[in-house]
Amino acid sequence: MTEDQAGAGVSFAELDLAPDVLKAVRDAGYTHPTPIQQQAIPLALAGRDLIGLAQTGTGKTAGFTLPIVHNLITNPVLDSAGKSLHRVRVLILTPTRELAAQVEESFRKYGKYTDLRVVPIFGGVGIEPQSKSLRNGVDVVVATPGRLLDHMERQNVVFDDLEVLVLDEADRMLDMGFAPQLNRIVDEIPKYRQTLLFSATMPPEVEALARRYLRKPVVVQVGRRSETASTVTHAVYPVPRERKTQLLVELLKKPEMDSVLIFTRTKHGADRVVRHLEQEGVNATAMHADKSQGERTRALEDFKSGKIRVLVATDIAQRGLDVSGISHVVNYDVPQQPEDYVHRIGRTGRAAATGDAYTFMSTDEIAMVRTIERMMGESIPRISVPGYDFGTESGDAAPDAAAIIADDTPPAGPSVSASPDQAGKPKRYRRNVSVARRR
Ligand code: AMP
Repeated sequence: MTEDQAGAGVSFAELDLAPDVLKAVRDAGYTHPTPIQQQAIPLALAGRDLIGLAQTGTGKTAGFTLPIVHNLITNPVLDSAGKSLHRVRVLILTPTRELAAQVEESFRKYGKYTDLRVVPIFGGVGIEPQSKSLRNGVDVVVATPGRLLDHMERQNVVFDDLEVLVLDEADRMLDMGFAPQLNRIVDEIPKYRQTLLFSATMPPEVEALARRYLRKPVVVQVGRRSETASTVTHAVYPVPRERKTQLLVELLKKPEMDSVLIFTRTKHGADRVVRHLEQEGVNATAMHADKSQGERTRALEDFKSGKIRVLVATDIAQRGLDVSGISHVVNYDVPQQPEDYVHRIGRTGRAAATGDAYTFMSTDEIAMVRTIERMMGESIPRISVPGYDFGTESGDAAPDAAAIIADDTPPAGPSVSASPDQAGKPKRYRRNVSVARRR
């Protein structure tokens, strides 16, 4: 993987996060920050006020949690014996209890190697246990506005030491009528603080809020279009799980698919695909953790030299692969980690060559594709191959893929209908690589 490929430009290790934070990130299985994280983390670390235009699914929660945990542990507030005072230094306001719980979980996840205390504060549950936690001392409060005001009125919480305020999903908080509560809360907390505001949209009300609460904020945004055209084209093929192999065989009939890297989720899956392809007379080899180093090296050499046309690899094997001249990448299974998608499609389409990346999406993988699209801030075109799309053959009762995808942002990509003989021709379109290429 070369540095200039989309999504791979910056690794977490380059973001100057404390070792205990990086360790927790590694435990979570993340290797590369998402676009919003790449932009937001350095600014938040530097203490800047920030407006993050990003919605759920982009990795925004870690985008503010990671730098906050870093700043808290690298500047601890201790008593004379060197023990943490657990004063409230961070307040995160969210519109719903679900989001509050999610953000709390994020602090637990990324703060697992620290002694930071985080408490979620929301209505609908007993107030006493929350009062007790607050009085015992906490570093981070994640709250919905109404219940927090209850606690403030009872003087359960003191914000004298507050350093950071986060307004998460600010547009939703305003939609839900929380403006008066927000004003009352912000009036009670220190003026000199860092404020981070996240919002999926930027209506005038949110702008006004930002003007009132933030100081010289930097706006970061995901999904901004780049002028840099990418030569990679990609497409999603809706297909019932049990028909994936047949669709693959069909696509491999295209002569232009001369060097194809296929990713499967499991080792067994990789072996099964290879067996099936060989039965169909396609020269293929599997590469995964059960293969010896010698076997893997040989497979790679044969693939590079063109001796084998198809290499089938698992998620595990993908990181070390650096194969130039790949004509196509096929995600036989939708990658489990959204960032893996960007990684993989980055393997095709190097400078001079054009490359295509296809993702087979069964009904149970629709949500995952949507997560990937949100994370990239754009949609991926659908290609519907008659005879292979959901419901056309399998009797699968899944709703129409385009309809599902269209009910959420980003909107569904152009849905292309293709006859089997056009199946290898996804719509050309530009891929957003601006953020990923920033260094
Ligand atoms: P969020 O937008 O904060 O709701 O995050 C969406 C999902 O992406 C969550 O399930 C996170 O665990 C996951 N996630 C966050 N950051 C990364 C990353 N850098 N790489 C892979 N997954 C991530």
